[in-house]
Formats: sequence, structure tokens, C-alpha cells
Amino acid sequence: MDRRSFLATATVSLLAPAGYSRTSRALNSDPFTLGVASGDPSTDGFVLWTRLALDPLGGDGRGGMPSHDVPVDWQIAADERFTKIVRSGTATARPAAAHSVHVEVRGLDPGRDYFYRFRSQGRVSPAGRTRTTPVGARPLSFAVAACAHYEHGYYTAYRRLAEEEPELVVFLGDYMYEYGPRGYTALAGQVRTHTPGKCVTLADYRLRHAQYKSDPDLQLAHATAPWLVAFDDHEVENNWAGPVSSTGAPAFDRRRADAFRAYYENMPLRRASVRGAALRVNRRVSWGSLARFHLLDTRQFRDDQACRDGVRAGCDERLDTGRTLLGAAQWRWLEEGLRGSTTRWNLLGQQIMMAHRDFKAGPGREVNMDSWDGYAAERTRLLGSLAATANPVVLTGDAHMHHLSDLKADFDDPGSPVIAKELVTSSIASDGDGYRDHRRIAEALSENRHISYIDQRRGYITAKLTHDDLSVAFRTLEYVSRRGARARTAHRLTIPATPEPRT
Ligand code: FE
Ligand code: CA
Repeated sequence: MDRRSFLATATVSLLAPAGYSRTSRALNSDPFTLGVASGDPSTDGFVLWTRLALDPLGGDGRGGMPSHDVPVDWQIAADERFTKIVRSGTATARPAAAHSVHVEVRGLDPGRDYFYRFRSQGRVSPAGRTRTTPVGARPLSFAVAACAHYEHGYYTAYRRLAEEEPELVVFLGDYMYEYGPRGYTALAGQVRTHTPGKCVTLADYRLRHAQYKSDPDLQLAHATAPWLVAFDDHEVENNWAGPVSSTGAPAFDRRRADAFRAYYENMPLRRASVRGAALRVNRRVSWGSLARFHLLDTRQFRDDQACRDGVRAGCDERLDTGRTLLGAAQWRWLEEGLRGSTTRWNLLGQQIMMAHRDFKAGPGREVNMDSWDGYAAERTRLLGSLAATANPVVLTGDAHMHHLSDLKADFDDPGSPVIAKELVTSSIASDGDGYRDHRRIAEALSENRHISYIDQRRGYITAKLTHDDLSVAFRTLEYVSRRGARARTAHRLTIPATPEPRT
């Protein structure tokens, strides 16, 4: 299969074989303005997603769609020209789901690529490529990304990520931001403008997702590979914690439920993730016998941040042994999943920095109460579990900077053994172009000896996983305030597998 030729056609509708004729109507009659996506692959299937919107930025969040059901045909082919159709069917796009469809496919062959597309109202969608997971220990190339503030930059990093054609994309939160126009410009300029108002209502969240999904670079990244997605805070509200709004927002339970609903409507998630007003994104996805991804939710079940949140010194509350980040049920689920794992590698995909980070140069210590430093006792317990797990690696978002860290039982003790590496991906766009302040980076590294690399430029991580090792490339872009930046490897490392769990 010629992968390059697929990419060349991925953002436009494919040629129209197999009975799908692409009719030409008025420009605004195309309902596939938000692209297509796939996610959560298994050995015999995956979930396919699209959401119909004739007018994505229509102010009521309904995308200019009628208030009745719309049928959506779907096709899965073994080849990119859709000459070998292996499955097809018709889904229903309902107004109550913002005319999104989630097709869960089963019964396909393991370990192979598939191509998919939709047809509705006489129009054919762009085609996407996805794949089932293999049986056995076949190597895996994957990418890790997070944090894509739309106002702060173009999504060139998504395009570069897509061009590398990873087999899987792990997205670790802040897919969209809830702020109104210019609601958060701290470190960045503004290259684009959010939809009006901060997101509060269901219509607000739907409209914001539609704005993000309208981006062609984002659409390309989704069409290229299946994604594993998990939200962090900004898909709802900055630094929310369980039932607690960080701003004391009224009726936060309702707002959170609406934000979850819009998130589900716009993501390639399985129906089982919807649990009433809650959304379950902690889940496991295995790549044959090679790796198991344990995706965590470090937001929905956590205790409120200690000492009124922020980066601060002298907070004993953060050390309380009763504090939880994962919540009791997810903790049990994770423990079982780690203990029961039989794969060579165990990759935790989660949102916030797990390594300790002291932000204060010299004597004294200041830590981020929103990260694992604010839940230190549970971190110690988790690291104890990881020490007995086969080849654990932690993948993290949130920080808007690449970090490479050693996770240790005692971060203050240089002799404390390394339990796992933590790979923190920088942001796709959040905080704009970024910078390289060598003095500040050197200071941060010398203050935190377990951290060996920090980079404040935009980017993502690519990785190649085999039975023997995990080779990692921290990719960076020089700018996102204009289009066209190349991606370069700013740092790389290879993590060898150890033969047996370190018990
Ligand atoms: Fe972020
Ligand atoms: Ca210090």
C-alpha cells in the first residue's frame, strides 16, 4: 500500500468508485465539514466517528442541521480506493447527539489497515485510515499529543504528526479550551479567535468543538490513524476537580455534564464511555502481546486541589495520605489492570506531570498543586505498583513543555532507583511559539535532577515500540504563529526493555 498517496487524498473525498458518486451541489450542502475520525481499536474492530454540520459555526451549536434524524451510510474497505468493501451499513445522526454518529465495528481481521468513509445527503465524506490491533508482538509506532489552544497557533504540529503516519495517536487532554476570545493569552499571541463567550452551555461547547474540528490540519491527523483520547481540564473548565469548579461556577454539575456530552459527541469514543452524566475514559487498549495502554482519568474523580491550588510552597495538605487523584474505583481498576497485564510493556496515558517538579530555584520548594505533587501519597503508592509491573512507561500531557523524567520512589534521593521514565509531551499549539530560555531550563534541570530534558517549544512525541526497546523522539516546531514550520527531533532516547518485572 502506498501510504503517501493515501495522505495526498485524505483531506478531500476519494475518487468515487463502488457506487458512491460525488454530486456537486451548492458549497454549503456538504455535511462533512468536521471531518472523520476513528478510535479505540481492538483486534477485530474500532469506532468510526463523524458529525454532520452544514454550518459548523452556526450560533446555536446545531451546525445548521435540521431538527430531525438524518441517515448516514458508512463503508469500510480493505483498500484505499474502496474497491474491496468489507463492511457497510447505515447509522442515524440524531439532533439529540448534535448529528454525530459513532459506529462500533466488529468481526474484522486483526492487525491490518482499513479505510472508511461516510455518505449522507448525496455527499461523500473524506476518507480515513484506521486499523485493528495485532495478535502477537508486532512493533508499534505511535504519537503522543496534547493541548491545542486554537487561538494560540496554527495546528501545523497536527499536520506534521500526520505526515509521520503513526499507527496510533494517544491524545492526553486539552483537546479544546473553554475560554472566550482572548480569555487566556498569558504566554502567547493570538493568531485566531475563539467562538464568542466562554463555554458554559451545551450549545457553547458544541460550537467550540465544531470550530476546532473545522481545522484541516486537525482533520488530517484524525483521518490518518485511530486515536485514544482522554480529556483533562479545559474540555470542561480550567483546573476543575471532581465535582468542584475552580471558579465557583454555578450549577457546575450540569455544566460538566454538558461539556462531557459535547466531548463525547465530538470524539471517536465507544458508547460504553457514556455513564449518565459521567463520562468514563479510563480504559485499556492492548497492542497484541507487545503493549497495554492504561488510559487514566486524573480529573473527574480527584479531590480538590490542596491549599487553594496554584504553584506554592509550604503546603502539608498535599501530603495527606487520604487524598486521591484517581478515586477509589479507578484505583482498583488500575491496580487490577497492572497486576493482570501479560504484555511486554505497560504504557500509562495520563494527563498531569507525575514527576516531582520544584519550581523554586535554590533553597525551598514550590510545586504545582494541580499535578501529582498535590497528591503525593497516592503517587508513592502508584510508583510502588509500577515497580512490580513489566516495563512501565508514563505518557503525560498538560505541561505545554516537553519533559523527560525519571520516576523514583524518592525524588530527593539521587540513589533512589528509577521505576519508570515519564515522557511529557509539549503542546500542539497552547502558549504559542514558545521559546528557549537556556538559563531557566538549566536552572530547572539542576533543581530537579531526575528531569533530564525540558523544551518550551510546541511539538509532540513519536515513538517506536518493539519487544526490545522503546525509541522516543521529542519533536518540536520553531513557530506556530505562522503556517509551514517543519518538525525536528530536539531530543531522543531509547528505553531498553527489562526481561522481568522489577519486583
Ligand atoms: Fe493545556
Ligand atoms: Ca528549590
